[in-house]
Amino acid sequence: MTQQRANEIKDNIKHIQDDMAEIAAKYNLPQKTTLMAVTKTFPAEDVAVALESGLTLFGENRIQEAYSKFQNDVFKDKTFDLHIIGHLQRNKAAHAVEVMSMCQSIDKNETLAAINDKAVKLGKQIDYLIEVNTSYEPQKSGVAPDMLDALLDEIGEANYSNCHIRGLMTVGPLTDNAMQIGHAFANLQSMFIRLQDKYDNFDILSMGMSDDYKLAMLEGSTLVRIGSALFGHRDYSKK
Ligand SMILES: *Cc1c(COP(=O)(O)O)cnc(C)c1O
Repeated sequence: MTQQRANEIKDNIKHIQDDMAEIAAKYNLPQKTTLMAVTKTFPAEDVAVALESGLTLFGENRIQEAYSKFQNDVFKDKTFDLHIIGHLQRNKAAHAVEVMSMCQSIDKNETLAAINDKAVKLGKQIDYLIEVNTSYEPQKSGVAPDMLDALLDEIGEANYSNCHIRGLMTVGPLTDNAMQIGHAFANLQSMFIRLQDKYDNFDILSMGMSDDYKLAMLEGSTLVRIGSALFGHRDYSKK
C-alpha cells in the first residue's frame, strides 16, 4: 500500500460523503442514507484505509472472498459490519452465516432456510433484505416485483427464529437513461413503504451504486452500495 493509494481512497470517500450530504441538503431529503463500501476484488489493505476513514459497513459478493479477506489481522478487534450483497447459492449459505451480519440478496425461501439452520447452530441472529429485480432483466437475480408478496408469504409461514427481515434491495437497470433508473427505484420505494405497515424494524431501502446513488437517494434510499467510486476500477482477473 503506497501513501498515494491510501490518499486516493481517503479522498474518494470524502468526496462521496460530501456529495451525499450536499444532495440530502439540496433536496431536503427526509431519510438518512448510509454509505456502504463495496470491497469486492479489492485487498484487505484497501478496506483498512476505509475503516480508518470511519466507514464501518462493507459489502462483498462472494463468500469465499469475504471469508479470506476479513480474516486478515488488520480487522482484529475492529468493529464493523459485513453484508453479503451478491447472489447467494444455497450450498454457500451456511458458510456465509459465519462472516455476515446481513444478507441483502435473498430471493428464495430455500436460501433463507439454510441460513436460519446455521444461524440457530451458531446462536447468531442474521438480518436480511429481499432483493427485487425491479428492471426485469433476465440475467439479474432478485425476485420479480409481482412475485414479492408470494415469497414473503412463503417466508412468513416458515417463521424463522434467527433471521429477521429489514427491508428491500435492488440493483438499478443497466442503462444511462436516468428516467428509467429513477422509475425502478421509485417502484422499489413504493413496495418498501407498503410493507413498512406489515413488519417491525423494516427500515432499510438498499439501492444506488457508484453511477446512480443520487437517483436512488432522491427515491428514498437509506443505504447506498458504492465500490468503484471509492476504490477505482475493478480488476476481476485478480480474484
Ligand atoms: C459490485 C456491486 C456494487 C458496487 O458497484 P459500483 O458500481 O462499483 O459502485 C453494488 N451492489 C452490488 C449488488 C454489487 O454487486
